[in-house]
Amino acid sequence: MYICVDFDGTVVDHRYPYVGDPVPLAVDWMQRWVELGAKLILFTMRSDDAEGEEYLTDAVQYFEKNNIELFGVNRNPDQDSWTKSPKAYGEIYIDDAAFGCPLTYIATFNRPCVDWKQVGPAVEARLLEA
Ligand SMILES: [Mg+2]
Repeated sequence: MYICVDFDGTVVDHRYPYVGDPVPLAVDWMQRWVELGAKLILFTMRSDDAEGEEYLTDAVQYFEKNNIELFGVNRNPDQDSWTKSPKAYGEIYIDDAAFGCPLTYIATFNRPCVDWKQVGPAVEARLLEA
């Protein structure tokens, strides 16, 4: 199952262009989903710009540091054979800006962030039934 995951406000507190504090349980759940066979795609507005800023690289390295295998970054390598669409194909999208995404409010955080306590088990159930 392909799961597209946003970064700021989803995996870390929204402190763009910096990398904010970890959103509770995000790393644990993503590691677990990969173990269960999920293909994670980082799906973020971050980019590495011409002035040498590496905002996207910072996000990719966050996954590396936390031992979370990424299948793709802003694209799904498996879709090239069947579409030219620029949208990364996912079966699930997790994004703090997505309508209906459960959010939680953490006092020290800049903005509400994804509530992995709700998202984690719900996505795991989908993985196990797939
Ligand atoms: Mg976001």
